[in-house]
Amino acid sequence: MNNHKKKEIPYDAWLLWTVTNACNLNCPYCNASNPEKILKKFYDLGFLNSAIIASVNLSKLLEQSFQKGPFRVYRETKAKLTPEAGTAIDIPALIRTLDATQKIFKISFTGGEPFLVPNFIDACEAITKKHYTTLFSNLTSPQIKSFCETIDPRSVLEICGSLHIKELEKRRLLERYIENFILLKAKGFNVSAQAVAHPDLSGDVEKYRLYFKEKGIDIVFVPFRGRYHWKQYPKSYTGQEIERFGFGPFPKSHTDIMNCFYRKGKMCNAGFNVGVVFPSGEAQTCFLIDQSIGNVFTKIEFHNNLIKCPFKYCSCPLNIYDPTLFEKACQ
Ligand code: SF4
Ligand code: SF4
Repeated sequence: MNNHKKKEIPYDAWLLWTVTNACNLNCPYCNASNPEKILKKFYDLGFLNSAIIASVNLSKLLEQSFQKGPFRVYRETKAKLTPEAGTAIDIPALIRTLDATQKIFKISFTGGEPFLVPNFIDACEAITKKHYTTLFSNLTSPQIKSFCETIDPRSVLEICGSLHIKELEKRRLLERYIENFILLKAKGFNVSAQAVAHPDLSGDVEKYRLYFKEKGIDIVFVPFRGRYHWKQYPKSYTGQEIERFGFGPFPKSHTDIMNCFYRKGKMCNAGFNVGVVFPSGEAQTCFLIDQSIGNVFTKIEFHNNLIKCPFKYCSCPLNIYDPTLFEKACQ
């Protein structure tokens, strides 16, 4: 996976922020963190892999339970993961925290649906005075018009318009998605339409590709990460499915898929110059390693070393998703 072109990036560190777990859609394959979906999560990640994840995080959990008591740890963990749409971002505290690191950040907002956060556009405006954002959104929000009018497209590195075709059809929101996509594109945002390559869709790929093409949208399919009919994906895609979905920009073959999501023993910059953030603002190494790197509303402190991935399967390999930042970390 190291055949990408070397490029300069204008930021030193990346925070992937699940800014809310709440969403206006309800896709069957959704893997947004939610305590009620914990069993589904174990099922999707594979029970053996989940057991390893639990054991890697167990010592910290026991230590915390000993210090704070198990009920408090349970309440805090639940609060960290629970959908929270109504809470606004504390913008002054956030900017103070970012400034104190003396780094330039890429802040990627994901969810849930980020536009459900009440002051989301104000937060983007404040962040992009000095830093950069990227955005994962289902592009159904009426707020997108005001986002386009407020935010400078040059400071938004990428907008991934997550395209959940069946769910949008069911809720009659397909037209809204298309309108918002076209508006963002016209305003100069680097927007892409990424659809989950759910095995269920494999017979309709060409139909949807053509439909969206006619509307001026090129769909990219991204691998489904989860279980379907007792098989774990992405490793269970057949050669024919891979060809049909034509995953872009990567992975393009079964070997690429395995290299991308099966990371055991490979070096990773998670926690070094990349971290994930939960709706509460708490930040940690990555979604599977619960090692704190602080809180975006108080203090962020990265670790001094890269790590070797301890897990067989990772659904969100941070080193692969930003290869240039990974290279920077290796230097
Ligand atoms: S749009 Fe995304 S966050 Fe919302 S339900 Fe669908 S997959 Fe989950
Ligand atoms: S590949 Fe990186 S991000 Fe994924 S689990 Fe391993 S250490 Fe975490």
